[in-house]
Parts: sequence; C-alpha cells; structure tokens
Amino acid sequence: MSEILVLVEHVDGEVKKVTLELLTLAKSLGSPSAVWAGPGLSDAATAKLAEYGADKVYNASSQEIVDYVVAPKAELLAQLVSSAAPAAVLVAATAEGKEIAGRLAVKTDSGVITDAVGLGDGFVADQSIFGGGVNVKSKVAKGTPIVAVRPNSTAPVAAAGAGAVEEVAVALSDAARAAKVVDRVKQEKGARPELTEAAIVVSGGRGVGSAENFSVIEGLADALGAAVGASRAATDAGWYPHQFQVGQTGKTVSPQLYVAAGISGAIQHRAGMQTAKTIVAINKDPEAPIFELADYGVVGDLHQVVPQLTEEVNKRK
Ligand SMILES: Cc1cc2nc3c(=O)[nH]c(=O)nc-3n(C[C@H](O)[C@H](O)[C@H](O)COP(=O)(O)OP(=O)(O)OC[C@H]3O[C@@H](n4cnc5c(N)ncnc54)[C@H](O)[C@@H]3O)c2cc1C
Repeated sequence: MSEILVLVEHVDGEVKKVTLELLTLAKSLGSPSAVWAGPGLSDAATAKLAEYGADKVYNASSQEIVDYVVAPKAELLAQLVSSAAPAAVLVAATAEGKEIAGRLAVKTDSGVITDAVGLGDGFVADQSIFGGGVNVKSKVAKGTPIVAVRPNSTAPVAAAGAGAVEEVAVALSDAARAAKVVDRVKQEKGARPELTEAAIVVSGGRGVGSAENFSVIEGLADALGAAVGASRAATDAGWYPHQFQVGQTGKTVSPQLYVAAGISGAIQHRAGMQTAKTIVAINKDPEAPIFELADYGVVGDLHQVVPQLTEEVNKRK
C-alpha cells in the first residue's frame, strides 16, 4: 500500500487530535507514516499514533528541529519525500502547518492544497472557498501531493497500525537556521477545549449585549464541554477577547456542533464556521441569514433560550 506521510502536531509530548484525524484520512487512502519532528516521542505517543493507524513512525528527535522556526520541519519532510517517495504528505491546516506545506512544495517542486476539508481517492481534495459559498474539488497535478487539512474535518477512528519506529537524522541547511526560537511562553489554558480543536463550539455575537452577558454563552459551553467563540462584532466591542473570534479574519472552526447565539450570519462569520457538521442558531430575528445555514434554529431571545438549554443539558448529565 502506498505510504502517506503525516506530520505529527504535538505539545508537551502529547499528540494533538488533528493528527489522529490526519492518520484516519491517510489510512483510508494508504499506509500512514507519522513524522515526529523534535524530541519527546514517548512509548505512549507511539502507541497513540499506532492506535490510529500509523504503520511507521519516523522519529526525527534532534533538538535543532524545534530550535528554529518552521524551516527545519520542511527540510525534514523534504528529506523523507526524497528517501521514502510517499504517495502524499498530509499536514494540519494550522498557521504553522500551512507554512510548512508551502515550503515543502517549493523544495520538492510539488503542488500544494491548503484548507482541505476532505480528501478522497486519487488525493482529490475538497475545499470550501469564497467564504464557503463554493465547494471545489482539486488535485495536485505535479510532484508529490501536499495537502493541508483543516482540523475537525474528519472524525478520528482507531484502526491499529504497526507503529514501527524508525530513527531519522536530519542535516539542516544554514538557511533553515536563519530564524532561531529564543523564547517560548505558554499560553494560559483554561478548562475549556482549544477553539480550533473543539468538537463543540458555542459562539456569541452582538445579540449577547455585553461582556458580562457572555457568562450565558460560557454557561452553555461548559455544560456541553465546548469551546467559546465570538463574532467580530462581539470582539470589536471588547466583550470577548479577539483570540476567540470566528470568521474570515479570525479562527476557522469545523466542529461537530456549532451553536451561534445572537449572530446574524454575515458572510465573513460564515467563512469561519460553515463547515461545522451541525449548526444550531438562536436569534430573535426570523429573517436572520444564519437560519439559511442552520440545521436547527430557535427564533427567540437568547437570554431566555440559552439558560433554559443549559439547564436542560445539565439535567441530562
Ligand atoms: C474584511 C472583513 C472581515 C470580517 N471578518 C469577520 C470575522 O472574522 N468574523 C466575524 O464574525 N465577522 C467579521 N466581519 C464582520 C461581519 O461583516 C459582521 O459585521 C459581523 O459578523 C456581525 O456580527 P454579529 O452577527 O454578532 O452582529 P450583527 O450582524 O449585528 O447581528 C446580531 C444578531 O443578533 C441578533 N440578536 C440581537 N439581540 C438578540 C437576542 N437578545 N437574542 C437573540 N438574538 C439577538 C440580531 O437579530 C442579529 O441577527 C468582517 C467584516 C469585514 C468587512
């Protein structure tokens, strides 16, 4: 079966969920080989990668790979593309993943597809473009297909692989050492899941009315074990931090469930959430454009609807 490289996203030695999604996708198309860049591959991490289908785990454990900004990872993958001749390379469509994908495409003279939301036979990728108004299928026509896949596009499915670890030494070029990481500051992490990784997102918009009222949104999010998102109107008003903005100029999310409360559904907001599997809209205006997109809609005042919903969810726990 054709080998497919999957660049592992890991933090503190833990494999991120998006990698399990990529492995699931790779498994449906060939034989996944996970590529671990940097130190920290543990037996537990290897077992996790194997559990989700990795037949091979390339371990490039050199500290240098993480001492410099992205370039070493692109060089590592380019080296593996040359030695293993994989059928495709999958990375997560995160800011870093997309930069690596672009660099790798240049290095290997290959085509690259970013922000894929699906990948099928022949590495034909699905993309949702123009603010999600158009769905396209595209295929790399040159070199090794390099595809950056959006987090939450695929549900991870355990399917055991051999998980054979192969050590990889990387010879970094001087160019790859051009930008050194001098400090790392850990972002404070709350109890909620990370927005772009969350399976459920509850977002509030201008209809929430104030910063204090966002506690209503947070209450539902916590009942569902969800992340909190916000429209730009809400973040621009200073009601919620900008890092939680969903949309064209904010984060792109693709959860299993997206709850939009007091959000009109402007095209720029849709661009960041319309690939969610199920969309629930709560809006007092029955003509709000968000209802065109929603699978389920509640016409009503969110200040009445959301607390009742939260209570109901909590009752069923
Ligand atoms: C270049 C550019 C980039 C942009 N990028 C983004 C982006 O990344 N993300 C983003 O979100 N926007 C973005 N925008 C802004 C976007 O165009 C909209 O202005 C914004 O999404 C509107 O936010 P909203 O839906 O919260 O507010 P509004 O459009 O004002 O809608 C508020 C909604 O709340 C409803 N409502 C009011 N009170 C209640 C209540 N008590 N209960 C229930 N419903 C209620 C109203 O009926 C209304 O539908 C961008 C705009 C531009 C020009």
